[in-house]
This record gives sequence, structure tokens and C-alpha cells, in this order.
Amino acid sequence: MVLPHEPEFKQAYDELVSALEDSTLFSEHPEYKKVIPVVSVPERIIQFRVSWENDKGDIEVNNGFRVQFNSALGPYKGGLRFHPSVNLSILKFLGFEQIFKNALTGLSIGGGKGGCDFNPKNRSDAEIRRFCVAFMRQLARYIGQDTDVPAGDIGVGGREVGFLFGAYKQMQNNWSGILTGKGLSWGGSLIRPEATGYGVVYYVEKMIEKATKGQESFKGKRVAISGSGNVAQYAALKVIELGGTVVSLSDSKGSIISQNGITPLQVEEITAAKVKFRTLEQIIQESASAFSGSNQVKYIAGARPWTHVGQVDVALPSATQNEVSGEEAKALVEAGCKYIAEGSNMGSTKEAIDVFEANRSANVWYAPGKAANCGGVAVSGLEMAQNSQRVTWTAEEVDTKLKDIMYTCFENCYTTATKYSAGKDASGLPSLLKGANIAGFIKVADAMFDHGDVF
Ligand code: NDP
Repeated sequence: MVLPHEPEFKQAYDELVSALEDSTLFSEHPEYKKVIPVVSVPERIIQFRVSWENDKGDIEVNNGFRVQFNSALGPYKGGLRFHPSVNLSILKFLGFEQIFKNALTGLSIGGGKGGCDFNPKNRSDAEIRRFCVAFMRQLARYIGQDTDVPAGDIGVGGREVGFLFGAYKQMQNNWSGILTGKGLSWGGSLIRPEATGYGVVYYVEKMIEKATKGQESFKGKRVAISGSGNVAQYAALKVIELGGTVVSLSDSKGSIISQNGITPLQVEEITAAKVKFRTLEQIIQESASAFSGSNQVKYIAGARPWTHVGQVDVALPSATQNEVSGEEAKALVEAGCKYIAEGSNMGSTKEAIDVFEANRSANVWYAPGKAANCGGVAVSGLEMAQNSQRVTWTAEEVDTKLKDIMYTCFENCYTTATKYSAGKDASGLPSLLKGANIAGFIKVADAMFDHGDVF
């Protein structure tokens, strides 16, 4: 059931349903229609009060949530977001997306999402720790390594996962893999921090290869990236490693544009400063030597990068939902952008997706987040596998598995789109929007039939 006061969830629901309806899936297999009203209702929603003490000794109260959306394929899996904008509509959209994304990884993981309207910015470490302990005091009774395994998302990185894990362990007297994104010395997986950003780039590598019949790669491509957090940082580093030029990064206050290309050293400066909640504007002022001379960047306050980057080949929205409008999509297409892949969840508005899809016949190719950014949760799944076996794989082993998952995910989206688009797509590249939604949906739906959730 989609409620009118849940606009983000409605957007995610509409994207899935219209992709399925605009294919031959329901005419070939009408039984799948029965799944929609069932899969679109979360199995369980937990909402709780988080009251905690700030550094002044005052009590603050926040709203905590966990949406356990679908466990057909495995334990609920999906991140925790700490951001003042968090509400049930946003968490239901993220949890809904997560179901089909997790299916696309090929691993046995269900879909969930959680978080809190707590703003971690400019809080001391002690406040963040006390908040995490209070949050976990409520959440602990609902999660478990075979039930629900949360991870990070916006506002929840390695530090927060550490505090949350420590709180759980103390409360339950139990060391088990109840969170992913853990520290390397206590059960974390190598390559987990890098996984989402690297994974997006691996996915786009395959898009470029397929669209150009192996003639082109990232080498020489100009790449616009938004965000400057976990996903954006590692996407940028991988693009640079593969020979591309990263022309932008951004945060919630503005964008930096570099026509010569953002350097790995600049990304390192940003990584170190972002943990301390510095804005990009502050970072380029405070680390002036890294951002001057031939490495100078232009800062544009209050702007997203898309209309400021000039000619680009690839765009990787990697900040937050609805961060590319229809007008910005048009500007990207006019600037020559051929490949758009979302590091963020639902990074493009419906209007932007319509622009990208309408230009598929001109070889503009759009990959939705549920496919392009599944590398993060995939390596979380690999972290769970390592925890179960009490082993640690090398970085090379995990990276190889990540690549394999992203390449397989791309092929799955591509072949599924081709299979179910007969007579629906006049020309051009097959729709990865449709391919991702249909492939993820079929896998979940089949398991739900087997379990008797739908019959
Ligand atoms: P981080 O918190 O590390 O970084 C988020 C970045 O986005 C920051 O640069 C932040 O700016 C910016 N941002 C956040 N909200 C807004 C906003 N409303 N407007 C403009 N900019 C904003 O998060 P992640 O990098 O982990 O996540 C980024 C996106 O990727 C999210 O959509 C997330 O759901 C998605 N994702 C993340 C995965 C992961 O493994 N981390 C996995 C799959 C998807 P500022 O610093 O100013 O706050």
C-alpha cells in the first residue's frame, strides 16, 4: 500500500511498477502481478524513541526506525541513515529499493533500511557515542546475524558502526556479525569502504565496453561526480586509476569544479576533513596548498555540479536522492554525457530519468542505483560470509569477487531488458532501468511464491 504522505516511497514504487508494466513481463507471466500488493508492504516496521544525553547534560530525543521490508532471499540487510531529513517515507523508499538491489547481487540477502533523524554534524565523539548506545539499546532486540544485519549509509561510517557494535556486544554478551562495515581488526572486510564507489565504476566500465563494442574505456573520459562522502570519494579514486578525469565533487553546501581533474591527493584531503564535518569550502581554504596552482578548483556555493561541469562523458550522482532534476538531466545530455549511473539511491528525479530514457536512441545510457550501487551491499554480504566462516579474505580476493558481482549484475540487467522489451523499445540500447527492476523483481517474486507469501 502506498500512502499519499509518503512521496519518496511512492516515487520508488512507481518506478518499479511502471518499469514492469512497460515490458512484456505481465503479458508473458500474469501471475507476477499478484506479487505487487504483497511486496510493497514491509513485513515489519519498528519505530522507537532514542533519548540520550548531550555534552551539556541535557536530554535530547530523536525518532529511530528500522524497516524490515522483505526477507524472501535472506536476513534483512540495508544501511542505517543518521540525517535530520530521515522519516518513514524515505526509509520505506530506501528499504524497497534495497530488496531488489540485494537480489541483483546474487547473494542471499533480504531488504531493509533504518535510521534516525539525528544530525551527527558538529557533535563531539562523546555525543555520537552516547547517541549510538541509546539507538542500539532499542534496536538490539530486533536484529541478529540471521535476522537483520544493518550497515552504514549517510551519516553512519566506520566510527558509528564501531560504537553501535560495541553497544550491542555489551548489551547482549554476544559477539556476532550483526553489523557490516566493521573495523578490519574486529570482523570487517577489506574493500568494504571502497565497495560502493568502486562497484559503480566497475558497472559503468561494462556499459562503456558494451555500448562501444569494446572500443572505449574510462581512459580519457570526463566524469562528473556529486557528493564527497564515502561513495563519491572511492568512485573518484577508481575513475582516476582507470585513466578518467574527475571534474567535480560536491556537498550539501556547494560544488568544486576542476577542469584539469581532481587529484588523488585532493580526495585524500577531503576524506580526512569530512570525518571532522568540514565543508568543501572550508577544506579548500584550510588545505590551500593542495588546492592551488595547477590543482586549483573553482568553488560554487549552493550549487549542484551538473550545469557547471562543461563537456562530460559520464555522470555519477553520489550524494543523495533526487539530486538530478529534469533540467539538469537535459544540460548533461547537451554537454555530451552518454553514461549516467547512480551511486546514490534514487539519485535522479522521475523527470531526469525520462530525459535519459528518451535519449537512449542517441546512445545515452542510464543505470539506476539499485543496479549500479549494489557493490556496497554485495561486499557487506561477503563480510557476513567471512564472519560466518571466521576467515578474512585478502583485498585482491574481495575486489575480484566485487568485480565479478558488478559485471554479472550488468549482464543480468542487459539480457533481462533485451528479453522483456520485445516490441516495446524501438531502437537503441536496452533499458537498464527496466532490466534492473525486472531482474530484481523476478528473483524476489519467485522466492515469495515458493514460500507461500503469494499463491
Ligand atoms: P556520506 O554521508 O558519506 O556522504 C554523503 C554526501 O552527500 C556528502 O558529501 C553530503 O554532504 C552529501 N549530501 C547528503 N545529503 C545531501 C543533500 N540533501 N544535498 C546535497 N548533498 C547532500 O554518505 P554515502 O557516501 O555513504 O552515501 C551517498 C549516497 O549513496 C546515499 O544516497 C546512499 O544511500 C547511497 N549509497 C551508499 C552506500 C554505502 O555503502 N555507503 C551503498 C549504496 C548506496 P555533506 O558532507 O555536506 O553532508
